[in-house]
Amino acid sequence: MKIAVCGIATESCAFSPLPTRLEDFRLTRAGDPGFAELYPFLPRFAGVEFSGALTAKAMPGGPVEALAYQTIKEEILDNLDSLLPLDGVYLDMHGAMMVSGMEDAEGDLYAAIRAIVGRQCLLSASYDLHGNVSERVMEHLDIITGYRTAPHIDAGETRERAVRLLVHCLRRGIRPRKAFVKIPVGLPGEKTSTEWEPGRGVYQAIAAEIDGERVMDATIQVGYVWADERRMSACAIAIGRDSAAISAAAQSLAQRYWDHRADFGFGVDALSVDDCLERALAEDAAPVFISDSGDNPTAGGVGDVTYFLKRALALQPPDLVYASIPDADAVKRCINAGLGADVELEIGGMLDTLHSRPLPVRGRVQFIRSEETNPQVLLRAGGIRIIMTTTRTAFHHRQQFLDLGIKPEAHHIIAVKIGYLAPELKAMARRSYLALSPGAVNQDIVSLPYKRISRPCYPFDADMDWAPHVQLY
Ligand SMILES: [Zn+2]
Repeated sequence: MKIAVCGIATESCAFSPLPTRLEDFRLTRAGDPGFAELYPFLPRFAGVEFSGALTAKAMPGGPVEALAYQTIKEEILDNLDSLLPLDGVYLDMHGAMMVSGMEDAEGDLYAAIRAIVGRQCLLSASYDLHGNVSERVMEHLDIITGYRTAPHIDAGETRERAVRLLVHCLRRGIRPRKAFVKIPVGLPGEKTSTEWEPGRGVYQAIAAEIDGERVMDATIQVGYVWADERRMSACAIAIGRDSAAISAAAQSLAQRYWDHRADFGFGVDALSVDDCLERALAEDAAPVFISDSGDNPTAGGVGDVTYFLKRALALQPPDLVYASIPDADAVKRCINAGLGADVELEIGGMLDTLHSRPLPVRGRVQFIRSEETNPQVLLRAGGIRIIMTTTRTAFHHRQQFLDLGIKPEAHHIIAVKIGYLAPELKAMARRSYLALSPGAVNQDIVSLPYKRISRPCYPFDADMDWAPHVQLY
């Protein structure tokens, strides 16, 4: 049995001015050490020959440049062509890529792959639950399965499940039927985490719908709300051998999601930047975490919007750590000035010129981390410690702070450019707030200048009626 492994995974924010370029993708080819790291489970499938045909992954950002997409797509197609005949293709995807000048990029990729590998070959994809699914995607994929957790602690498990389902179907000669229910709801990931209700219960209901062969797998996609495309929405999918059973499963999951649409919320107090800072300052327990959510780079924000930092500098809290601002020039200037030097800089606001401007800061270089690909510095301005990085960086792990000489538990307020807290941060936080800050992934979605999304859609059309409609493939 011969299976090719490939994919393009990124999440593209229509409102980000920072395009995703070819050099922003991490490319993994057959034989690269990264291949075994990404897919450690492949050796468990005895008797299957897996061939890497190129996997490309990029941090969420603005729309992918057309040439970058075409270059990656062509290499995948050439490699698949050279590997023919293939029994199956495993696609390691995200599902919310936008390509400049194109709509439904994943659908375009699958159609092109199908034209190369033929009708008999089975295509199986793993998705982030923030992927947007179109009818064309459903038409070309034989198997699609998505994460069931946000924060995504089941990414590896989901990849393995997509391969396991593929191998199972190939061994038994099954081409699964697919039921697809689009749910006209677009909500941000910060409200639909599976760590609290109703997200938790909605996702827990998936397992009960899967019964082996009749319903082999089921998926709920929250979708990615900052994609301005017709396909943007949540959906429910079920695959298996029994059309009636998969229809009932997809319909039931979709109905539950719809019924809870108005109940999804942030899980923590979500306030203006100033209100978050004031509340945090009044807290005795420490550390207090504040998410600077509007510019969260892991959701597609640019990451160098200075609004939060500007307000913090104005309010002068006695002990705040800010993680982080990407500014390659400022990092270089601090490194050149040297440890302990006093510097006067303008930082950030150079990449996201739509939502920000460079911010003048005076401070002392307190720590230098001369890491090869992403040098970082810690700049101390009064009670504020500003982490500056060379490339766009999300601080999800305690170790990232320790590497800069910061023990998070020893500080009062830690502000991070993310949305919901990553598990390690949540474990440290005595209290947390979500700041409704400006940026490309602004949480005030109904105010964004959408042009293409399908309407009606909740919450844009808050009073709309809906009943599930199953599309069978
Ligand atoms: Zn996601």
